[in-house]
Amino acid sequence: MAERRIVTYGDPVLREVSKAVDVIDQQVKDLVSDLVDTLKKAKGLGLSAVQIGVLKRVFIIDLSAIDITETLRVFINPEIIETEDEVEMEEGCLSFPGIYQKIVRPAKVKVKATDLEGHEFVLEAGGLAARAVLHEYDHLEGVLYIERMTPLTRTLLRGRLKKLAKSSCAA
Ligand code: ZN
Repeated sequence: MAERRIVTYGDPVLREVSKAVDVIDQQVKDLVSDLVDTLKKAKGLGLSAVQIGVLKRVFIIDLSAIDITETLRVFINPEIIETEDEVEMEEGCLSFPGIYQKIVRPAKVKVKATDLEGHEFVLEAGGLAARAVLHEYDHLEGVLYIERMTPLTRTLLRGRLKKLAKSSCAA
């Protein structure tokens, strides 16, 4: 398929709640294919449909560049079943180019989702995989990772965020 433009901070679509996928049809397959192409090009670890402007509950995670035992995973209609503990980790987001911040999130997650073949699966993840799942899941709820930062961090980033919002509105 095709590489798509990644929506950046300032675009109001990022605040919208994505809608459940009813049926995995060609449209959904094309969407996933576009997500894969776009993520590869951007060299990111995860990407949600809303980040290319599609309000569907779909995201992909690809940690294979960091961990060779990992493969690209597709999550359709994901549900967070359980989370455990807390950990601080540095995080970035393709919708916030160049901004990396330490953020506290659950250390472990149990997530249920459907894959592209329509099979339901449950994944228990820790480390970076847990982090990626929780980050992408937030996107489906219209929650941005700056909301997970401490107020102080957000204040310190204010200038850069303003600039980013301005440039994404002009795009
Ligand atoms: Zn993100």
